[in-house]
Amino acid sequence: MQAMVIDKNDNGQQASLRDFSEAELMEGDVTVRVSHSCLNYKDGLALTGKAPVVRRFPMIPGIDFAGVVETSAHEGYKPGDAVLLNGWGTGETHLGGYAELSRVKGEWLVPLPAGLTAAQAMAIGTAGYTAMLSLMAIERHGLAPDAGPAVVTGAAGGVGSVAIALLHRAGWRVIASTGRMQEAEYLTGLGADEVVDRAILSGAPKPLAKERWAAAVDSVGSTTLANVLSMTRYGGAVAACGLAGGMDLPGSVAPFILRGVALLGIESVMAPKPRRVEAWDRLARDLDLAKLDAMTRTIGLADVAEAAAEILAGRIRGRVVVEIAG
Ligand code: NDP
Repeated sequence: MQAMVIDKNDNGQQASLRDFSEAELMEGDVTVRVSHSCLNYKDGLALTGKAPVVRRFPMIPGIDFAGVVETSAHEGYKPGDAVLLNGWGTGETHLGGYAELSRVKGEWLVPLPAGLTAAQAMAIGTAGYTAMLSLMAIERHGLAPDAGPAVVTGAAGGVGSVAIALLHRAGWRVIASTGRMQEAEYLTGLGADEVVDRAILSGAPKPLAKERWAAAVDSVGSTTLANVLSMTRYGGAVAACGLAGGMDLPGSVAPFILRGVALLGIESVMAPKPRRVEAWDRLARDLDLAKLDAMTRTIGLADVAEAAAEILAGRIRGRVVVEIAG
């Protein structure tokens, strides 16, 4: 079969589209014929080697895939079932989705929700599913749209774009923070009520700043997250899901102890199955598919290496589906 493969030798790692033997697939009780995968920030890190995401070589990257079960020894799946997968170490420790076939543990799979095609599921991908996990965490914290606006950082990226559409649909007034003010029309099209330049979140954070929002979905981290916290209203909550701006958190505890602000950690890779199924059911129900379409473009497997460099440079708008030929 054809696969995008990362090999490693004395000169470092190289990604190439090449033949890969089905016999080399890793252990698992379900083999899936993959029709679509997608590009996430982490796939960019894996393909470029900019962070040590890949833990075995050769590796087939691709932390997500959707397709149809080809063979199964798992009681929950039979040939012909439409499925999707996010995370569980695929593309990092387990061979991932940039291939015509993937063999995985059946317990990692989620049935493709009714109402979504495989291509739409991958337009959502880990980025969109993480945006939904973030909204669910904010709701579990007890916040509703009447608490005040929600800010989304990294707004024109994958997590950000889906988060805007979901928050808007859930009734929130949405403030989109972006470094690409030229994308303001795109962002308002997704449901942003206000678009702000991310420069307002990039200065040295004060312990407490003027209260601006009740909730936040932050895919940027670092100084941006510290500023978001300092501007969060009394009793508000910030879902921290990303590090596109850095992994540090150069802030103060003032928002926590003086405003009761909550910092909600969002983790998608090892999230338990019931939470995944809930997130996917809600995505199928609540995500406006016209908006999903507007934020998505499709590329082939041969194009992922170039797109990987683009996503790390913050130049990808919205989501990228990878069509697997075969
Ligand atoms: P994207 O590259 O699509 O989006 C990231 C966005 O962040 C960019 O589009 C840009 O938005 C903004 N950005 C990039 N660099 C900087 C910077 N230096 N300073 C400030 N803003 C910046 O990536 P994804 O949406 O796929 O992923 C976003 C983050 O979420 C990544 O760090 C990823 O690893 C993480 N993630 C975490 C998951 C989890 O389980 N916790 C799951 C999925 C993703 P703009 O141009 O609008 O400013």
